[in-house]
Amino acid sequence: MTVPLLKLEAISVQYRQTAALNAVDLALSPASITGIVGRSGSGKTTLARVITGEVPPAAGQVLWQGTAFGIRRTREQLRRIQTVYQDPYASLNPRLTVGAVLTELLTVIRRFDKQSAREEAAKLLKQVHLPPAMVDAFPTHLSGGQRQRVAIARALAVSPQLLIADEPTSSLDVTVRTTILDLFKALSEQLGLTILLISHDLLAIRYACDDIAVMHAGRIVERNSASRIFQHQDTEEGARLVRAIPCLRRQA
Ligand code: ADP
Ligand code: MG
Repeated sequence: MTVPLLKLEAISVQYRQTAALNAVDLALSPASITGIVGRSGSGKTTLARVITGEVPPAAGQVLWQGTAFGIRRTREQLRRIQTVYQDPYASLNPRLTVGAVLTELLTVIRRFDKQSAREEAAKLLKQVHLPPAMVDAFPTHLSGGQRQRVAIARALAVSPQLLIADEPTSSLDVTVRTTILDLFKALSEQLGLTILLISHDLLAIRYACDDIAVMHAGRIVERNSASRIFQHQDTEEGARLVRAIPCLRRQA
């Protein structure tokens, strides 16, 4: 068996009164898309923040390619894991053009010279299916879907191995959600990128992921496959998430 890119072992997180995570185990295979689905407050974002190192676990450990992270991540370790958030409006600086955002990362972090940074920025835009001319655009002039693509290009600019997408389609029009999920699938296939896709929306998770983890009250209560989850759920929480999908409810 291949060594997981990332492994969580018995991770627990406590915020004052709240046990946000309780003995969570999770392994991510290289170049896979794993989905985390659960209702609001189930601990999904906390799980992401443990992986990025923003939240120190009260117990358990995070392993990267079989080796535990220390208490403080190195700069190199931080670079390998990038996150895309729900709200691309909040996460992009309105005063910088798309090109400026990308070329700054490319010159500072990846040490490109100015000319090759501009070429690489155009390549990154192509990779997220935006026209190269968009280097000169300001985020405020873009649609929600385009901004989310820019946020994904920015994450890719530092060439991460793991991309965490925390509710990446929740603020977008229903019509563009699938196109963003298609992009994650393409990036995983073309770049061998490992993706952790987090959503409260089981339809989105089933569409993009092979492997699904259902979270409830700080625990992973069910592991299921996308091909199986609508036919059979192993837990009441899995069944509740399936029942919560409006179009399936109408059929029943
Ligand atoms: P999800 O992303 O699934 O909605 P979260 O990980 O954000 O869930 O939250 C899990 C639980 O931890 C919730 O009960 C939430 O209220 C609590 N929580 C999250 N962040 C904090 C925090 N910074 N301080 C205190 N409690 C928090
Ligand atoms: Mg969340």
